[in-house]
Amino acid sequence: YLAKRHNSVAEIYDPRHQDQNVERLSLLSELRKAVERDELVLYFQPKVSTQPDRVHHVEALVRWIHPTRGFVPPFEFIPFAEQTGYIKAITLWVMNAAVRQCGQWLANGLEVNVSLNISARDLLNPDLPAVFADMLRQHACPARLITLEITESAVLDDPLRALANLQALRDTGCALSIDDYGTGYSSLSYLRQMPVSEMKIDRSFVMHLLDNPNDEIIVRSTIELAHNMGLKVTAEGVESEEVLERLRALGCDLAQGYLISKPIPADALERWFRDSRWAQSPDAAPAPAVR
Ligand code: C2E
Ligand code: MG
Ligand code: MG
Ligand code: MG
Repeated sequence: YLAKRHNSVAEIYDPRHQDQNVERLSLLSELRKAVERDELVLYFQPKVSTQPDRVHHVEALVRWIHPTRGFVPPFEFIPFAEQTGYIKAITLWVMNAAVRQCGQWLANGLEVNVSLNISARDLLNPDLPAVFADMLRQHACPARLITLEITESAVLDDPLRALANLQALRDTGCALSIDDYGTGYSSLSYLRQMPVSEMKIDRSFVMHLLDNPNDEIIVRSTIELAHNMGLKVTAEGVESEEVLERLRALGCDLAQGYLISKPIPADALERWFRDSRWAQSPDAAPAPAVR
């Protein structure tokens, strides 16, 4: 008992924890400045249809380029921003940047469907739908080109408010998608109430699709569930031709992953639309040129 007690006291005063707290505090204060200082940047990862078509789909993924820390990956600051509430500012930044980019591409003759990620906390922000609608107007971006990705657990904290807010976002004319399907606390009773049109199967089920029979069963049943609910299905984390072939055979609609492209900056994406074999299906007319 004493030893245990001693342990827990030692833990409280563990200097390593002190360091962690200091590190967290400094990260928070720097994250606060990241938006003002314009240190955030959007990368875009294309998705391709498993059937021939000429529709362009991309997912916008935020990057933090810190002046001294360098490239900070999302997993190092998004969960942290979610815990501290600062995600609200990040989401507004991401939304505005993605909508502006989508409007710019369209003005240049390039029609791109842009998905962006929003967090559970954002669904509790009652101003978000009106702010989003303003952004669409300001950047002359048609709502139908934007998809908001949310995780299946996002409604669990306050389901009534979250579902009402989802409906209000949907009413602006954008599409909604369930991200990382299968990894959260799936609640089928909420799932059927969510006004979504797409489901994204998490890459943890997709990556080992060919070696792990259980993963194949999960992917196959998810595709069937989604289709029966009238939803399109995207598979994340497609890293090989063989996995893409299997997904196509299973009837999956869209694929996203390093095989097709990593997330890349906007100018690289424009070149990708022009040059990549994935950007044009063989029997389709050439994709619209970027002016
Ligand atoms: P996500 O929304 O599920 O995004 C997909 C993640 O998987 C991206 O990581 C992408 O780079 C990675 N990925 C894509 N294809 C492959 C593949 O073939 N293999 C492997 N191993 N990975 C692949 P990223 O950009 O590091 O983002 C991680 C997560 O951070 C995102 O997962 C999303 O939950 C969050 N996130 C990123 N940007 C934003 C944002 O703007 N807002 C919010 N709220 N969350 C964001
Ligand atoms: Mg996503
Ligand atoms: Mg995802
Ligand atoms: Mg994921």
